[in-house]
Amino acid sequence: MSKTALITGITGQDGAYLAQLLLDQGYEVHGMVRRSSSDRFDRIEPLIEDITLHQADLLDQLSIVRLIEATSPDEIYNLAAQSFVPTSFEQPLLTGEFTALGVTRMLEAIRQVSTEIRFYQASSSEMFGTVQETPQRETTPFWPRSPYGVAKVYGHWITVNYRESYDIFACSGILFNHESPLRGKQFVTRKISDAVARIKLGKQEKLSLGNLDAERDWGFAGDYVRAMWLMMQQDTPDDYVVSTGQRHTVRDFCQVAFDHVGLNWEDYVEIDPAFLRPADVNTLCGDFSKAHENLGWQPEVTFEQLVQMMVDTDLDRVSGKLNDGV
Ligand code: NDP
Ligand code: GDP
Repeated sequence: MSKTALITGITGQDGAYLAQLLLDQGYEVHGMVRRSSSDRFDRIEPLIEDITLHQADLLDQLSIVRLIEATSPDEIYNLAAQSFVPTSFEQPLLTGEFTALGVTRMLEAIRQVSTEIRFYQASSSEMFGTVQETPQRETTPFWPRSPYGVAKVYGHWITVNYRESYDIFACSGILFNHESPLRGKQFVTRKISDAVARIKLGKQEKLSLGNLDAERDWGFAGDYVRAMWLMMQQDTPDDYVVSTGQRHTVRDFCQVAFDHVGLNWEDYVEIDPAFLRPADVNTLCGDFSKAHENLGWQPEVTFEQLVQMMVDTDLDRVSGKLNDGV
């Protein structure tokens, strides 16, 4: 019998990739969307006929309860969050409501409707912040460096707590940064790939960035949603680091991206202090060996392939060959 999944945050990058993966597995897919004055369904436009969207909001407990009652999911993937670190410094309370308390609202709704429902929480490598060891693994202590990171630590531990307290199949994927052509343009990777395409096609002159020394362990979102699904198919719930084990600086990303179109990044990139953060995460690098051993998961797309895929897609968008609105 086919399974039913409910995805919160289905309009985001991961929601689009996960919805496609679950449809391919034969799932009935429901997505939670919040009300806004204009619909932002660009990323899931190709899937819109095959999924069912429902209005509810992480801020509204009863809307979540009603949604879970109406859809009777076997699995819930909680991807919705205020996910951009700089915004979390500007709107720390709202970030706490969405990204931290929103998780408890989901778990409380499961407790009320049915503790048989499996739950996935989108935890983040930002929880490691000022890293206490390298590479980071499931047992590495957290030291978050932004209101976003702090909120994710809360979401992570409340998921563990509901697993231990109520015997709910609740797991957390501690995902390191993952990117794709569907990544939001505020994030540094997509900001760079979009700018490279515009500069190459004569539509932009310079690219302003902040901390070029920051190191991230960047992987491909399509690979990472596979890990989410695998976690939910196990006999026992657990938490897993999902990463590539490779780290690169923002400068490296610029270099590979500009090289791909035959340009020298140093001719175009300038530093704007406006993009520096009150506190930054300087380096992240994950050890995914537990996911490899227990789930048989490993990343397929390399850093260079990822950068080139993003630049190529943005070249198609900027030149008008692709009109997906993303
Ligand atoms: P996006 O920012 O692309 O998507 C976030 C989603 O959350 C959007 O669909 C957004 O809806 C939704 N959302 C925000 N607030 C609410 C709300 N109050 N009620 C309902 N929905 C809401 O994030 P990603 O897809 O990149 O990430 C998915 C999850 O994984 C997030 O929780 C993120 O924090 C986490 N994560 C991401 C990593 C990454 O590198 N991408 C790394 C580690 C964790 P709308 O379209 O209406 O804005
Ligand atoms: P994050 O790891 O979730 O914060 O993902 P981002 O893509 O937003 O940022 C990754 C790193 O790139 C951080 O250390 C930022 O300080 C750094 N960075 C440097 N310049 C920029 C910029 O212009 N925009 C963003 N978003 N990040 C930048």
